[in-house]
Amino acid sequence: MKKAGSTQRRQFLKNSIGVLGAITLVGLSAHAEEERRRKKPEGGQAAGGGDPLVDPATDPMAKSTNYVAKRDDLKKAELKTDRQGVKFADQGCKGCMLFSAPSKKDGKEVGKCTLFAGKLVEAGGWCSSWSKKV
Ligand code: SF4
Repeated sequence: MKKAGSTQRRQFLKNSIGVLGAITLVGLSAHAEEERRRKKPEGGQAAGGGDPLVDPATDPMAKSTNYVAKRDDLKKAELKTDRQGVKFADQGCKGCMLFSAPSKKDGKEVGKCTLFAGKLVEAGGWCSSWSKKV
C-alpha cells in the first residue's frame, strides 16, 4: 500500500509540474505578444501597423468566415442579407463590433479584428461573423 501511495504522489507531482510549465509558457507567450503590440514599429506606424493583412485566399479563418477584403467582392449571394437591421450594403469591418484600432497600412484603412489575432483586416472588408457595433 505504501508503494502505491508513493507512486500516486510521484504521478501527482509530475502532473503538477506539467501544468505549471504549460501555464508559464502561456503567460510568457501572452506577455511577449503584449510587448510586441505595445512597441511602435519603425516608420511611425500606429501599433499593429506592421501586422500583415489577412489574405482571404490562404487564411483558414478567412475561408471559414467568407472574409473578403472588399465587401462588394463577395460572390455568395445568399450571404448578402440584412443583419441586425443593417442592410448588407451598409455592413463592413469598420462598423463591426469586432473591429478595433483603426489605422493605415499601404494607404488602406485597416484595423484589428478579434477573429484574426496578429493580422489586420480592411475597414471595407466583410465576413459572415459581422456584428453591428453598438
Ligand atoms: Fe470584419 Fe467583423 Fe468579420 Fe472581423 S468579424 S472580419 S471586423 S466583419
